[in-house]
Amino acid sequence: MLETKGYAAFDPNSPLAPFNFQRRDVGPHDVLIEIMFCGVCHSDLHTAKGEWGGAMYPVVPGHEIVGRIVRVGDHVKNFRVGEIAGVGCMVDSCRTCSSCQDGLEQYCEKGFIGTYNSPEAGLDTPTYGGYSNQIVVAEEFVLHIQENQDLARVAPLLCAGITTYSPLRHWNVGQGHKVGVVGLGGLGHMAVKLAAAMGAEVTVLSTSPNKEADAQALGAHKFVVTKDQEALKQVRGYFDFIINTVSAKVSLDMYANLLRRDGTMILLGVPPEAPELHAATLIFGRRRIAGSLIGGIAETQEMLDFCAQHNILSDIEVININQINTAYDRMLAGDVKYRFVIDMSSLENTSA
Ligand code: NAP
Ligand code: ZN
Ligand code: ZN
Repeated sequence: MLETKGYAAFDPNSPLAPFNFQRRDVGPHDVLIEIMFCGVCHSDLHTAKGEWGGAMYPVVPGHEIVGRIVRVGDHVKNFRVGEIAGVGCMVDSCRTCSSCQDGLEQYCEKGFIGTYNSPEAGLDTPTYGGYSNQIVVAEEFVLHIQENQDLARVAPLLCAGITTYSPLRHWNVGQGHKVGVVGLGGLGHMAVKLAAAMGAEVTVLSTSPNKEADAQALGAHKFVVTKDQEALKQVRGYFDFIINTVSAKVSLDMYANLLRRDGTMILLGVPPEAPELHAATLIFGRRRIAGSLIGGIAETQEMLDFCAQHNILSDIEVININQINTAYDRMLAGDVKYRFVIDMSSLENTSA
């Protein structure tokens, strides 16, 4: 077993704190990654605080992982020691069901193995995520990362990037489409960059008036403060697609009314409480509500290559691991510009 240092949530209410634990040895098909950077996703917070239920404490969150491969198993084919690699939200799946066969491991019929808070095969401990100094992952779930990039800014692509890229591709979003992005946080800012790069006209729908200049700098063409009823009226029936990233309970009617006939709102945010929606909002206008979960492994590699080619990176604030609790408080206050990324070398100065 490999002695590993990390940070964990021990219960729903206490701050995250240092936690030493063991990872499995490097198997024949595994790689060992020394973690350099890990992004901070709102899902980490939902899980750490037990908001979704089912938290297996201690929870070591983190599924936006970039690091260097320091060991490979005997049968590893596609990775070498010294390479930069990434790990996103999944570390395994059944690999045999129809979703897995279709490259849609995120919809694995047996349930994919999450990077954290999932049962770990052969061990009586759960999987532990990227708020740690190293991770062992089967090579099939490891991504190639081009080294000549700002790697801290690449980390958030592993969740925020793929979660927004996948639905944009699935619905063939591009030139001629009007896209609304609800919530300018980690997912939202990537949705703006990606939808703009695909040729769509992008409008940010935000509760924070002070994010307007940033939205434009990120590539948005319009900015609407959703508390401003007049501004909202201007975009009624306007959008072909709305990407909804809101992490808190909101009325879906307000947003769905901004869709044109046959428009689609794609839900990405997972608020702990169910949102409200009147059937009539969909019926008048034949509108649709859909959902989308991260993306498959092959699609994640496609997204990383697309971003490298178009020079798309996350806008980030780098923190040390001992600032994680403040980062969570700021995330809850909507004060994220636009993703926190932990410099994992800061773990060296902590002890459990
Ligand atoms: P985030 O960085 O905290 O961004 C969420 C944004 O939503 C905020 O910045 C804020 O933007 C807006 N918002 C927050 N509270 C709101 C409220 N009460 N009313 C209206 N808008 C509000 O979070 P994130 O990391 O992007 O994650 C967003 C959600 O997606 C979370 O629920 C997360 O668990 C989920 N998620 C889903 C998937 C998936 O596969 N579907 C993957 C990753 C994450 P403004 O200031 O602009 O209003
Ligand atoms: Zn995430
Ligand atoms: Zn499967």
